[in-house]
Amino acid sequence: MILVTGAGGFIGGALVRYFKDKGFTNLRAVDKKPLPLWYQIVDGVDNISMDLTNEEYCKIAVKGAREVYNLAADMGGMGFIERFRIMCLRSILINTHLIEAAYNAGVERYFFSSSACAYNTKLQEDPHCRALKETDAYPAYAERGYGWEKLVSEMFCQEYTAERGMKTAIARFHNVYGPWGTWDGGREKAPAAMCRKVIEAKAAGGHDIEIWGDGEQTRSFMYIDDCLVGIDKIMHCEALNATPINLGTSEMISINELVSVTEEIGGVKLKRHYKLDAPKGVAGRNSDNTMIKSVLGWEPSLPIKTGLKTTYQWIEGQYNDRKKGLRTVKDIA
Ligand code: NAD
Repeated sequence: MILVTGAGGFIGGALVRYFKDKGFTNLRAVDKKPLPLWYQIVDGVDNISMDLTNEEYCKIAVKGAREVYNLAADMGGMGFIERFRIMCLRSILINTHLIEAAYNAGVERYFFSSSACAYNTKLQEDPHCRALKETDAYPAYAERGYGWEKLVSEMFCQEYTAERGMKTAIARFHNVYGPWGTWDGGREKAPAAMCRKVIEAKAAGGHDIEIWGDGEQTRSFMYIDDCLVGIDKIMHCEALNATPINLGTSEMISINELVSVTEEIGGVKLKRHYKLDAPKGVAGRNSDNTMIKSVLGWEPSLPIKTGLKTTYQWIEGQYNDRKKGLRTVKDIA
């Protein structure tokens, strides 16, 4: 049995579908959201709504599982993680209880979804800074709240391996985007937000777009399908036991470039208004993929132009469905 937590959200939901499509039949999906609010519900899966900050629910969730994929966290884009640091820190309860429960239940492999926000922010003060390699997390100066939770939860995984011999896998995701992700409501990330803003401007016959910061911030963006393959590969690679590794593309682009790509897809050109006091995160961030290429002989590679096109079309569909009063991916923030 495979357990996926955070399965009502973007990556967790996609991972359940990925395993189902691969032919796995014994799957359990857990999320604290009530079932009607899950982004994707996969048929034939044991779907349970439970809050995993509760130790007893963690014990129920892992019962009979051979593999656990922990993708549950209270998170969102910069607008969310800069504002709700306590909520982000409290996700520590999920991993703390879940890994202990998994160990006691004899789970064979445990996956933790960490983040590039765990890296030392002092190395990310320039939009053209060098890409982050795995050793750059220490000396630690992680993103306040969200990043520190990830760093400490990584340590939990490493110590369960060192002290108790449990197999753990830790991937530091760099911005993931794609269909079935949050696109509105305050937790959405830059690619989805850009698509929505362009779609809204077009629908309203507007000519303007608001951009958070000066648009010079740089990031790399990984398409969901690359993320899923990466999770699978990292989880099942013996050489990566208890070893944090980057999972992201090394295609660095600025937010201004991201806007241009989105405009091109939408077939519009908008006047840019820069909101300089908006949350914008670190100045520059990219993934150094030397380690993943050398260990796995693989790296996430779908170009942003290709992935964003699919994402834009999906968000446009959601936007139109919402206008018609149909059910869309919702958010409970
Ligand atoms: P998401 O918000 O779409 O999904 C997370 C899910 O976890 C939500 O559905 C939420 O309801 C659930 N959850 C929160 N608290 C819970 C609790 N106490 N019990 C049970 N479920 C709970 O986010 P996502 O983008 O799918 O992210 C999944 C994981 O990947 C998270 O750990 C996140 O920190 C990490 N990550 C994501 C990105 C990204 O770009 N999306 C980048 C870096 C790291």
